[in-house]
This record gives sequence, C-alpha cells and structure tokens, in this order.
Amino acid sequence: MATTTDLLTVSLLVEQNPAEVTGVPFFLRADEQIRKAVLAAVAAILSERPDVRVEWVSSSIVPLDGKPAVGRCAVCNCWVYDAENVTDQTPTRISCGAVVDGRYRCDEHLPHGHPLCFAGRGYDGPVPDAEV
Ligand SMILES: [Zn+2]
Repeated sequence: MATTTDLLTVSLLVEQNPAEVTGVPFFLRADEQIRKAVLAAVAAILSERPDVRVEWVSSSIVPLDGKPAVGRCAVCNCWVYDAENVTDQTPTRISCGAVVDGRYRCDEHLPHGHPLCFAGRGYDGPVPDAEV
C-alpha cells in the first residue's frame, strides 16, 4: 500500500506578556519552546511506529486581542468568534459562537433555540455578571 501524506493542523492559544517577550532570544520564546515540546511529544509517542514520519512544516501566530468579532465566552471564558458577524480580519480557528445580549458565547453556551448551538443543545445555566 502506498504511503499517504496529510497535513494535520493544530492550534494552540498562547498567552504571554508582550513586554517580557521583547528582547527574549528567539530560542527562549514561548512559541519556539512550544514547537520543540510538540515535536518532542510526537517523537516520544510515535517512537514505536517507524511507519509514521512526522515533520514540522510551519507555524504562525495570529493575535486575538483587538480583532473584529472576537471575544471571550461570558460563561467559560474561552476565546470565541462571532460566526454571525465574521469579517476578513476575524480569526476563525478558535471556537465558534455568537453574541447574545451583547456578550460573546461559545457554541456550547448559546441558549436553547440558537441556530449555532453545539449539536442542537442549548445552555440554560448561569451566566456570570460582566466585569465592570
Ligand atoms: Zn463557553
């Protein structure tokens, strides 16, 4: 059987203080350390699978702060994009969601009946008060 090749894309959220990143040598930056950790973990886990070859191809960083139609879920605080108001500048490789009553909700925390509810299930639990 012929070998097949797939591109597996994984996204990670990396929160770091930009003031502390400035002046840090590249090899000590969190994104480079994460790249090395992912490669080391993949190599360790696949060490018993000589038929599988994994090679790093690329990585990119997309700042989320200040992007249009992006915010944090009012319930679980995960990053979410408003699928109903996406623009060309909206990063869409994060959780899908929408804005309800002026606040972001991820698809698992949209209320019953919302068309973007995850698997058609709605969330009717508590929503923490907004920070003022
Ligand atoms: Zn949520």
